[in-house]
Amino acid sequence: MAQLAGKAAIVTGGASGIGEACSETLAREGASVLITDIDDALGKAVVERIVKAGGKARYLHHDVRDEAAWPGVIADAEKNFGRLDIMVANAGIGVMAPIETMTLADWQRQQAINLDGVFLSIKHAIPALRRQGGGSIVLMSSIAGLRGAPGLAAYSATKGGVRLLAKSVALEHAHDNIRCNSVHPGIIATPIWGKIPTGAEGNRRNAPIDPVERATMMVPLTRVGVAQDIANGVMFLCTEAANYMTGQELVIDGGITAGGRPTR
Ligand code: NAD
Repeated sequence: MAQLAGKAAIVTGGASGIGEACSETLAREGASVLITDIDDALGKAVVERIVKAGGKARYLHHDVRDEAAWPGVIADAEKNFGRLDIMVANAGIGVMAPIETMTLADWQRQQAINLDGVFLSIKHAIPALRRQGGGSIVLMSSIAGLRGAPGLAAYSATKGGVRLLAKSVALEHAHDNIRCNSVHPGIIATPIWGKIPTGAEGNRRNAPIDPVERATMMVPLTRVGVAQDIANGVMFLCTEAANYMTGQELVIDGGITAGGRPTR
């Protein structure tokens, strides 16, 4: 029996990378999935693949920063799927630059998508989740939300904010049977790495290095993660198996934050 049969989910930033894997995984487990994104071509392609595989999915163009459009997103899920049980607030970007050369515009763009967007995802989902007697909210943070990340100061500030947002929402809505947890990926091979600008000044010292090279240096499990590694954790948080888990951090990083280098 599919673990999410009869459930309905929204995945923001579901057109690519981790969001794409989450959308496909939730759909495989029987959930109807509303994918929102600003990349319409990729988003529609993910829906096509899900439907071809026998799943149920829809795509809606939506920028997570657009508060005026949020009620329409929630209404779309409720109208087409009859309910909403799961919100995966995944959309995010990163800009790499040392704090000295980080522009206010780049700082604010990351805050707007990574933090305002997550706030709006939660705020607008809660009434719909409450109408079902509860639900699961999963926020995509990062290991950069657990500890400092040189060159990614603004990004880490947003992801640390997401981490604490999850805990506060968990406490505010435990009585509604709405659970809220954060997921903290390590280095995951997705298109985001190719999109990270290094700031107007350029910054070779802190520029992202080849993820495979980075993995052999930093990851105890000696490989970069794949989007499915993260989708598996998100999936778990959405099922009954996690029904006593709220306000917590699920770290999926191949052991990077475990505290040291492996012994061999
Ligand atoms: P990705 O670039 O492949 O996917 C991000 C998606 O978000 C894209 O489809 C993009 O179009 C969408 N998006 C961007 N801005 C948006 C907006 N304003 N409104 C709606 N959608 C928007 O990247 P990914 O690696 O899959 O990242 C997904 C999440 O995981 C992000 O929050 C990211 O910070 C987090 N994360 C990624 C890694 C990693 O190593 N890949 C590590 C830690 C955390």
